[in-house]
Amino acid sequence: MTELGIGTRADTDATRDSLPEPTRALHTVMRELKLDDWSAATIGEAASFPLFLERVRSGLCDGLSYLTSEPEARRSPSSALPNARAMLVVALAEARVRAESASATAMIYNAPELQSQSCDAARGNAVGAVSGYATCLDYHDLMRARLKGLARFLTARFPGASTRCAVDTAPILEKNWAVESGLGFIGLNSLVINPTLGSRFFLGEVLTSISFEELTGCATREEFDAARDALAREDGRTIWTREERMKLRERCLLCRTCQRACPTNAITPDGALDARRCLNYWTIENRDEIPDDIARALDGRLFGCDLCQRVCPHNARVEATAPRMLPLDAVERLDDATFRRLFKKTPVFRARVDGLQRVARALRERSEDEEAEKQPNQTNPHNQPIPNITDNFSTRNILQNKFF
Ligand code: SF4
Ligand code: SF4
Repeated sequence: MTELGIGTRADTDATRDSLPEPTRALHTVMRELKLDDWSAATIGEAASFPLFLERVRSGLCDGLSYLTSEPEARRSPSSALPNARAMLVVALAEARVRAESASATAMIYNAPELQSQSCDAARGNAVGAVSGYATCLDYHDLMRARLKGLARFLTARFPGASTRCAVDTAPILEKNWAVESGLGFIGLNSLVINPTLGSRFFLGEVLTSISFEELTGCATREEFDAARDALAREDGRTIWTREERMKLRERCLLCRTCQRACPTNAITPDGALDARRCLNYWTIENRDEIPDDIARALDGRLFGCDLCQRVCPHNARVEATAPRMLPLDAVERLDDATFRRLFKKTPVFRARVDGLQRVARALRERSEDEEAEKQPNQTNPHNQPIPNITDNFSTRNILQNKFF
């Protein structure tokens, strides 16, 4: 039994031998492609589209042009593939992305260009945190390669079928389809929560002209859910039934831990994410001057924020990727070519060098103000050893405890 008392049950009727062959074949290819969970859904109008439209119109998504520019296109995935009938929704664990990125991450963050060169100890100590997931390689690339493999499998099995792969690249309400397919439920922090992966995973989709029944070999949704449940148990994993997901969503609305933890009150009382207040938006997407209240809430975050994931009980057993600390003086010294060379294959690239430096400036100014308030008469200790923050375990741990 899980801590939440949900997600384990006796064997269903779908035994190993009676599982529909197409569903088992899909499961096998998913495992070969190193995907961590998957499901399927019949395409139609997205159930959450009216809510999405209401939130766009109320301004909650302002600044996220990729969401607000063509809201109507997100009504149905058929705007991305006109003859689409079904969709495969897949999950790639953050832990897997972290493992596949380990050597690239080490090379980037140990680069000499990212070490402090300040002779001023206070200045050299000033660091900004890159959120854990963003220290890895860009998941879009890792996901896209897998989705292409999946699309090749489908077209080999169903000659003449059309497919379209999507990783944030098509106007699809992907969280809606993750829920519809049974991958999880949407938490108050607006992320999809999965029984095994918590919210620490990335979504991808393959749309196809093949019908749900042909794709899965199942005549009904219930038959498919039972087969998926049996396969998950073979792998030692759990899936939540539709009823369990609804119950967990109700408990989530009572929990509100993430809402209380959010430093900018970006999670509204009715459980919407106000992008205009979220630190992810301010450190990644936005290019304007950072308002004082947001700058105060940054609290050392240079790129990204995942506090509402860190505090969520569904992530308690999922290891988070550690953030990386970058000396602010090194960030402010970066030129465009060096930034591109170092970060091109990581999510940090999205902020651009000027965006990253803008946040670094805001953090440095704040850190200098705080230092001046604490020690108004202290002179700069020139010629003191310069701590290398990426190797300074104690400093890094203190900062992690403070910020995350
Ligand atoms: S990412 Fe950070 S700022 Fe945004 S909602 Fe979560 S806790 Fe709040
Ligand atoms: S922290 Fe609590 S309220 Fe927030 S998503 Fe997790 S379970 Fe839901």
